[in-house]
Amino acid sequence: MTIEIRKVTVLGTGVLGSQIAFQTAFSGFVVTAYDIGDDALAAARERFAKLVATYGQEVPGAAGGKAERTAAAITLTADLPAAVREADLVIEAVPEVLSIKQDTYRKIGESAPERTIFATNSSTLLPSDMKDFTGRPDRFLALHFANQVWKFNTAEVMGTADTDPAVYRAVVEFADAIGMVPIELHREKAGYVLNSLLVPFLNSGIALAAGGYAEPEAVDKTWRIATGAPMGPFQILDVVGLTTPYNILVNGDEGAQRLASWLKSEYIDKGKLGVATGEGFYKYPG
Ligand code: NAD
Repeated sequence: MTIEIRKVTVLGTGVLGSQIAFQTAFSGFVVTAYDIGDDALAAARERFAKLVATYGQEVPGAAGGKAERTAAAITLTADLPAAVREADLVIEAVPEVLSIKQDTYRKIGESAPERTIFATNSSTLLPSDMKDFTGRPDRFLALHFANQVWKFNTAEVMGTADTDPAVYRAVVEFADAIGMVPIELHREKAGYVLNSLLVPFLNSGIALAAGGYAEPEAVDKTWRIATGAPMGPFQILDVVGLTTPYNILVNGDEGAQRLASWLKSEYIDKGKLGVATGEGFYKYPG
């Protein structure tokens, strides 16, 4: 039996949840977005308004009213059981805190129909850590987006040993239908494909500069010229922002903690957090 996905509910309307909801509605699906209360829903409306402007400028076909209609078509609610009651697919983008995720799955496991598929957008947790709370481990998997989904459009699809292959296929097809490039993982892996590559790469760059071997500019230049890549590790770090890499390093081994101290004393303590603050490893005037 083919699995039809038409109604999609996104839980959490923060940085990623708002983008996932918007992109899904933009692609013609019926979208409900849930967040915890009035303040969070007001913030969601602001995020959607900003996305209307961004899509209008950056996404073909969005100008001339389609972006505005997309925002208007998204149902916003703070009622969790109602949000999932008719969903074919629930995409969870609540905070990266295991207890919050498990609690969310326990609640929606009780109120969503048996057929509803659940997908987590978690970046660092494994679906195995959550599956027992869903009440439907066979209809649960990870669907991991990248920030700025309209242009960095990978969607990593990763199930557990319990995920029904038909559910996995349906989610791959859904990702494709909302304009993502589905990246299929055959087994669970912390960091998926992207962060399994990116995190060690960025850390190696930081180690070169922190160890006094080469300036960030020289590291980036080497990578760009020798591989043809558009950006080196420090240019990428400035876009990502220095706080997340710092948090990863500070929780690592002794070597990682030395890199964290360097990031903190040389950049973070000086307010150089990357593009968002106007300066990181590079300056961004205006
Ligand atoms: P965020 O903090 O911007 O948004 C989280 C949202 O969840 C907020 O709107 C908040 O009000 C809401 N929330 C808080 N408590 C809740 C609860 N109990 N139930 C439901 N919603 C609740 O976070 P984010 O950056 O959008 O990250 C969300 C998820 O997406 C995380 O799992 C993260 O790992 C993942 N992710 C983030 C990025 C990124 O670049 N930010 C990229 C890929 C994946």
